[in-house]
Amino acid sequence: MKPTEERKKILTGVGIKYSKQRDLILELLNHSEMPLTAETLYIQIQAAEISMNLSTVYRVLDLFTMKGLVTKNYIGDMNKALYERNRMEHKHYLICLKCKRNIPIYECPLEKFGRYLEEKMNIDIVSHKVELYGYCSDCKQKQMEA
Ligand SMILES: [Zn+2]
Ligand SMILES: [Zn+2]
Repeated sequence: MKPTEERKKILTGVGIKYSKQRDLILELLNHSEMPLTAETLYIQIQAAEISMNLSTVYRVLDLFTMKGLVTKNYIGDMNKALYERNRMEHKHYLICLKCKRNIPIYECPLEKFGRYLEEKMNIDIVSHKVELYGYCSDCKQKQMEA
């Protein structure tokens, strides 16, 4: 299946009508390893030379969030929402104090710890939130070279 066809299927699968703009936003989110703000997406859209204004980007992101294609999060002390393709993966982020990037971390020891606590305290844990702060490997490298 061609990537465009695949995305068309994803959109219609959740009841969203296909359009060039929606397709592009989905594509950009599919290819991003990191959660993005609407503004960052907007800049990437302009580079792709497809006309769309920022409010349309927000509307499409809201629609995607409502349909579960995208997750919307506020991380750290940022007051801007970060949007990310919902891949149903469990992960956390290292927030780099220098470059402010969010680096995904796919390992999590808390599932096991949670089950231990559930048993010990007779509670039910539904989810958890962890934010790690530090320096990404790029910034660490630069610090060493400086
Ligand atoms: Zn960094
Ligand atoms: Zn976790």
